[in-house]
Amino acid sequence: MSEINLGIIGGGQLGSMLSIAARKLNVKTVVFSDDPDAPAQNFCNQFISGNYDDKQKVINFVNHVDVVTYEFENIPFETLNEINKLKPVLPKPSVNRIIQHRLAEKDFVNKLNIRTTRYVSIEKRSDLDALKDFLPGILKTTTLGYDGKGQHPISSIEDLNLLNLDFTRGYILEKLVKLKKEISIIITRFNINKYEIYEPIENTHEDQILKHSKIPADITEKIFNQSKDWAMLIAEELKYVGTLCVEFFIDRNDNLYVNEVAPRVHNSGHLTINAYNVSQFENHVRAVCRLEQIPLKKISNAKMINLLGDQISYYRKDPKLKKNEYFFDYLKKEIKEKRKMGHITILI
Ligand code: ADP
Ligand code: MG
Repeated sequence: MSEINLGIIGGGQLGSMLSIAARKLNVKTVVFSDDPDAPAQNFCNQFISGNYDDKQKVINFVNHVDVVTYEFENIPFETLNEINKLKPVLPKPSVNRIIQHRLAEKDFVNKLNIRTTRYVSIEKRSDLDALKDFLPGILKTTTLGYDGKGQHPISSIEDLNLLNLDFTRGYILEKLVKLKKEISIIITRFNINKYEIYEPIENTHEDQILKHSKIPADITEKIFNQSKDWAMLIAEELKYVGTLCVEFFIDRNDNLYVNEVAPRVHNSGHLTINAYNVSQFENHVRAVCRLEQIPLKKISNAKMINLLGDQISYYRKDPKLKKNEYFFDYLKKEIKEKRKMGHITILI
């Protein structure tokens, strides 16, 4: 078969790990990022830097590739749609349009009869009145949030009034779930009813940022099965191609809720690199490049720890890793507080 050139929009750690996985499959990668310092340039075959709405740069990128995918969801729909007229974009741009908007995403999930948190759209000041039902809650911008950015815990209407909201943007207010646990499901869909699905991963967040992930998740058999069924239903309904992550909440009464869907590889799936025969990244490349689907096999239980901010410094100096420990440095130029700088996976 002739060589495949895979275009990846976005050059962060996910783009890096996709590039590493592609190399193993002899797929060449071209990363396009608006950050000239993007770490994925250390791992891809070719790197193009430019704004996502720079038509010339986008066309130059598209000319170098056979198929295009993306490592983050906040790419303008128009950009993806234009690219899709020239080369296939997978997952499809329409998937991204639903999922990059928290309201559209939650409406979509509810239509499938899958439980989400209770939520209400806030578009203008007068919407703030009838909100008591949704308190205590979390106010989120409908677009562009990640790692808890753009989120505010709200316990009273006064809290909301104090925020000075900018109503040129949309917001969603979600009722707070009394969390017992959070889990995620990573699934790679190849075609109609053709999937590889990883077992549920248990996640711990600190300050709304993922800190730890582990398998097996300590959950009931019912939740084990229901989370997988819901992830399959979502992937099938979206006619998704590639790796998708569904984040779930479990409340103190063992009710399962979909929190959000990520149309991409996901931080909680980093442990799949060492714990499975095929990682979430390799599976994504296999699916979007229409390569062979290989049955998943778990090799080991595992735990992943995110290294945020200057926690990376110790590992960069003298990590003293044991045989079952794997350290990944994302090679980000600048250390910033709470920035994801790297991770450790421990096979257990
Ligand atoms: P992000 O896009 O930043 O990942 P999330 O909606 O997943 O946004 O929120 C980040 C984290 O904040 C969640 O994983 C959870 O720990 C907490 N959180 C968010 N919404 C709620 C909620 N409605 N109830 C309880 N916890 C929440
Ligand atoms: Mg999240």
